Amino acid sequence: MQIDLSGKTALVTGASMGLGFAMANSFYRAGAKVGIIARRADPLELARVHIAAGNVEGAAVASYVCDVANPDQILDTHEKLEAELGPVDILVNNAGQSAAMPFTSITDIAWQNDLDLKLFAAIRFTRLVWPHMQATRWGRIINVLNTAAKAPPANSAPTSVTRAAGMALTKVLAGEGAPDNVLVNAMLIGFIKSDQVRRMHAASDGSESLEEFMTTAGARLPMGRMGEAEECANLALFLASDASSYITGCAINMDGGLSKVV
Ligand code: NDP
Repeated sequence: MQIDLSGKTALVTGASMGLGFAMANSFYRAGAKVGIIARRADPLELARVHIAAGNVEGAAVASYVCDVANPDQILDTHEKLEAELGPVDILVNNAGQSAAMPFTSITDIAWQNDLDLKLFAAIRFTRLVWPHMQATRWGRIINVLNTAAKAPPANSAPTSVTRAAGMALTKVLAGEGAPDNVLVNAMLIGFIKSDQVRRMHAASDGSESLEEFMTTAGARLPMGRMGEAEECANLALFLASDASSYITGCAINMDGGLSKVV
C-alpha cells in the first residue's frame, strides 16, 4: 500500500527516540511536514538530522524542545510549530514513560505527574489542533497507550489508570470528531524495542548484553520476540493516512498477541 502524506502537517510528541522517532521518520518519508518534540535538545537535534537526511521532496522536519507535562510549554510549542510548518493535521500523543508500582506507594504527586505527562498532555495538544481539523474536515489523532489500559494488572498504576483514561478520551473524541472526519484511535503497546527498554537493561543486574536481554524478554511473549519501533510506525502511518478513512474510536493492540483481551 502506497501512503502519501504530502501536504499534511504532523506533530509527534516524544519523537527524539523509540516509537516516536520511528513514527516521525515514516511520516516524513511519506512526504509530511513533521514537528518533533522532546525535552533534551541534543538527542532531539540528532533525530531531526537523521530524519532530514531522508531528503524527501516537499517534506520537512523541525524540532521543538518541550516538556509535554508543562501547559505553558505546550502552548508556546504549538504556536511556533504552527507558524513554521502550518496547522496540524496529524497529532500523535506519544511522549511518556513507564510508572508502575504498588498502589500504596504512589503519592499524590506521582499520580498528578503521570496524569500531566500522559493524559493532560494529550488533552491540551488535542484542544489546540482540534479547531483546524474540524474546519478542514480532515484530522487524525493517535494516542499511544499500553496494553494495561484494557486489562490492568496489580502493581501497574499509575500508568494503567492513566492509560485507561487515555482510552476513554480516545472514544469520546472519536464520537465528537466523526461528523467532521476527525478520526481518533489508540495504539496499545506491549513490549517494543526502544530507549525505554535500554534503560530497563541498564537497571538490570548486567548479566546479559542488551541484545541478550531483549531476546530473553521477547522469548516470554506469544510471538517469541519483542516488537520493533518500525512495526509501530507502520500502524501509525496507516492510521495517519487516508487509508484509515473509516476507522475511528479503536484501541488497537500493538503487542504481538500479549494482551489477554481483544
Ligand atoms: P523512549 O523512552 O524510547 O522514548 C520516549 C520519548 O519521549 C523520548 O523522545 C523522550 O525524550 C520523550 N519524552 C519523555 N518524556 C517527555 C516529556 N515530558 N515531554 C516531552 N517528551 C518527553 O520510549 P518508547 O518509545 O518506548 O515509548 C513511547 C511511548 O510508548 C510512551 O508513551 C511509552 O509509555 C509507551 N509504551 C512503550 C512501551 C515499549 O515497550 N516501548 C510499552 C508500553 C507503552 P526526552 O527524554 O528527551 O524528553
